Amino acid sequence: MQRRALVSLAALAALGVAGCATTVADPQAVLRQSDLAMGASQLKTLRYAANGTGGTYGQAFLPGQAWPRINVPTFARWIDYDNAAMREDSVRVRAEPTGGGALPLMGTGEQRVSAWVRGEQAWNMAGTTPQAAPVALDGRIHDLWTTPHGVIKAAMRNNATVRSEGGLSVVSFTQPGRYRATAYIGADGLVQRVDSVVPNPVTGDTPVSTVYSGWRDWGGVKFPTRIQQSQGGFPVYDLTVTEVQANPALDMPVPAPITAFAEKVDAQQVVPGVWFFGGGSHNSVLVEFADHLMLIESPLYDGRAQAVLAEARRLVPNKPVRYVLNSHHHFDHAGGLRTAAATGATLVVSEPARPWFEQVFATPNSIRPDMLQQSGRRPTLMPVNGSRTFTDGTRTVDVHFIEGSVHAQGFMMAWLPRERLLVEADAFTPGAPNTPPPSPPNANNVNLVQNVEKLGWNPDRILPLHGRVVPYSDLRVAVGR
Ligand SMILES: [Zn+2]
Repeated sequence: MQRRALVSLAALAALGVAGCATTVADPQAVLRQSDLAMGASQLKTLRYAANGTGGTYGQAFLPGQAWPRINVPTFARWIDYDNAAMREDSVRVRAEPTGGGALPLMGTGEQRVSAWVRGEQAWNMAGTTPQAAPVALDGRIHDLWTTPHGVIKAAMRNNATVRSEGGLSVVSFTQPGRYRATAYIGADGLVQRVDSVVPNPVTGDTPVSTVYSGWRDWGGVKFPTRIQQSQGGFPVYDLTVTEVQANPALDMPVPAPITAFAEKVDAQQVVPGVWFFGGGSHNSVLVEFADHLMLIESPLYDGRAQAVLAEARRLVPNKPVRYVLNSHHHFDHAGGLRTAAATGATLVVSEPARPWFEQVFATPNSIRPDMLQQSGRRPTLMPVNGSRTFTDGTRTVDVHFIEGSVHAQGFMMAWLPRERLLVEADAFTPGAPNTPPPSPPNANNVNLVQNVEKLGWNPDRILPLHGRVVPYSDLRVAVGR
């Protein structure tokens, strides 16, 4: 269905190129007509509910593969256009066994997400606790202003250009520093599709396509019944709209802890020359060698990466971070690699992910140029194919694939044999102290134990890239040993 829509629009575009594309002299007139048809200016707030299917963006099992398929049994958005605020609640369930994301493994439960944005702040609600989500800010601003009514409002204030093409009005504009958008508007004034580009910490300028179809009147407001969105080339949503409410009373203030948020790195010395960097949702580990440093994981986005690299410089000012090890290609774990590369560090990545990383790091981040873009550097990638040892006599770090995991291909862990420290991401995240072990055991935990045992390692402690440092016996307990 999505493909057919793509083809027909491409055909229309081709027709346009062939002879009937014309620049429209009065863009505001086109926008006013669309505004009138959709009632955009009259719409101050909106709530809609939907359900359908989707994909877990940035969490492919294989780099470059489609996002893992999910079912979305419930989905709702509350939008306050005047205050640039949006809340999106969804329930997400895996529809295929492999790939990453914070969803429970297939057949073991659902994930509930409550994602918020207002102005320049993005956060998630975990129950009643707000958690800052700065990495999500660009995406949420983009999602708010590429809604059918939002894109018309945004076009009207962003100096849009309009051309006529194959019977459609094609409206293009840029929200400086945030996103670019092109909306395709039918003769009836309704938005049929938005093609947009949003900055991403891993993939740079990233294409998004959103198709709105089955428009109808929902008690005074026009809204589509079907929304299909792809991001980075693969589906993220195919939703059937079930409820639309125009101008509900909404109050979505930024919670006080979010207003005060700043990235912080809590460095904890594990043994001399090895530090565990906590203080956020994703950890890093700093390892000191004789004349350089290795950083294990540069996650999330440039803001986190800069804080982590600054802490490394503060702790060991006379040694450069020469290597940055990436546990796996999932966007949350790879989001600070571009920043690390901008400082001249060599990125240590799995061989299955290397070609894909080369491709995405060559993509510019032009909408809001990041440190890599500004540095003009090309990242240096050092591949790991199965295993690789880093040693200089004073320190040894063994990097090894976690074989047979459903989480990611080219999934890597690190082992410091002398200190008996295991560093891993996503294969085991310690629960809160004194929580009972999962029953049945988590397949990723079991797989990690099998890999450690096969290699004959005997860890003292685990330095997980989510959660806190724990004795290795916590993992053994978690798998029922
Ligand atoms: Zn992952």
